[in-house]
Amino acid sequence: MNTILEERKSSIRQGGDGSGMGCERGSVAGAVSQRACVYCGARVVLNPITDAFHIVHGPIGCASYTWDIRGSLTSGSERYRNSYSTDLREQDVIFGGAKKLSAAIDELAEHRNAKLVFVYATCIAGVIGDDVDAVCREAERKHDIRAIPVKAPGFSGTKSQGYRMACDALMRLILPHKSDSEIRGVNILGDFNLAGEMWIIKNYLERLGIPVVSAVTGDASYETLIKMPMAQLNLVQCAGSVNYLAKLMEAEFGTPYIKVSFFGIEDIGSSLIRTADALGDARAARLAREFIAEKEAELAPFSARYRPHLEGKRAAIFVGGGFKAISLIRQFSAMGIETVVVGTQTGQPEDYELIGQLVGSDAVILDDANPSELEQFMREKGADILVGGVKERPLAYKLGIAFCDHNHERKHALAGYEGIENFTREIHLSMNSPVRRYMEGGI
Ligand code: SF4
Repeated sequence: MNTILEERKSSIRQGGDGSGMGCERGSVAGAVSQRACVYCGARVVLNPITDAFHIVHGPIGCASYTWDIRGSLTSGSERYRNSYSTDLREQDVIFGGAKKLSAAIDELAEHRNAKLVFVYATCIAGVIGDDVDAVCREAERKHDIRAIPVKAPGFSGTKSQGYRMACDALMRLILPHKSDSEIRGVNILGDFNLAGEMWIIKNYLERLGIPVVSAVTGDASYETLIKMPMAQLNLVQCAGSVNYLAKLMEAEFGTPYIKVSFFGIEDIGSSLIRTADALGDARAARLAREFIAEKEAELAPFSARYRPHLEGKRAAIFVGGGFKAISLIRQFSAMGIETVVVGTQTGQPEDYELIGQLVGSDAVILDDANPSELEQFMREKGADILVGGVKERPLAYKLGIAFCDHNHERKHALAGYEGIENFTREIHLSMNSPVRRYMEGGI
């Protein structure tokens, strides 16, 4: 059965070749993309800032769509886990919603002691044309707070544009602190402290004597974010969401950046060593080599115990960004599992080129896939497990295929060496569960 729309063919590569992939463009109308909207892209980047207020200027549905959207943990305020909305209705569409927005910010400033407010203009606010910039400007003047507009109507582009809008909002926040003097340490960009992963990475860097100045945006706060311009180096983890911010910071503050990943045995080791090298810190590089050797030796018996249960299995991956997909392919390979289907929502041409080099010649690579395409290729390639997020889970269950949640709702860490153990255990338990013996009609 062939369910591929003609207009989608340039975004699907068969034969393990990722070059020339059609990506970074709007979804095909009617294709029922798995991708989230522009507003969602902006919200997922900014939401983990623990003491920020998020006002969704739009209908209540936009706010509920992203309510407490990430499993980001906090060592401080829990404020970010709430969502505020102007709840725009028919009357507001006719007469405008700016007054309602202004009243909402006043309430947060006067009764909730807000210092930092992000205002998201969603589809309806975009259509009626409320002047969100003017409302935010006036609120900053009136209350001496930061009120930052994020004009992200869902219809205005792709999820990647939402990421860029979040990066622009962060630049607007930190720009007044441009001339603060440099301090020793790094920023971690693109880690959202899901299940405490930021704390794992921070601990590793601290063992090498490298302080973390600020994080974007896992367990971040207003006070830590404004220190970002002071750091010596940016480590870009989720490149799809924050590479743009790293480039803006390099141009504005001269802060260099490197891409890293703390998922998977190969990427953790190389990221630690490259961080020390980029700082020109010979002591940290030596400590990194010792630390990696110690951790890999600890992990070896665990991996050997699980490998016979995993070897020869076939995996499908559909995740948000290209960098995550690349780390997953590498880790699957280290576990003896072949990746036969791999797709992302927001991958870039260079991500797909690298993916093509990592997978076998039989693999299918997709950008902005829909459930029908994923089903077709997982069936064709005989995938044993799908790694994805909340939107892919029902598809896996329907097909009777094992599933691993690698999205932002998960409750256990997958980063670092402890993350490798969690990931291996989860893949094994899901794929080799006794229940599979009793299932009929699976793929
Ligand atoms: S911004 Fe638009 S597309 Fe996104 S959740 Fe709101 S209404 Fe839906």
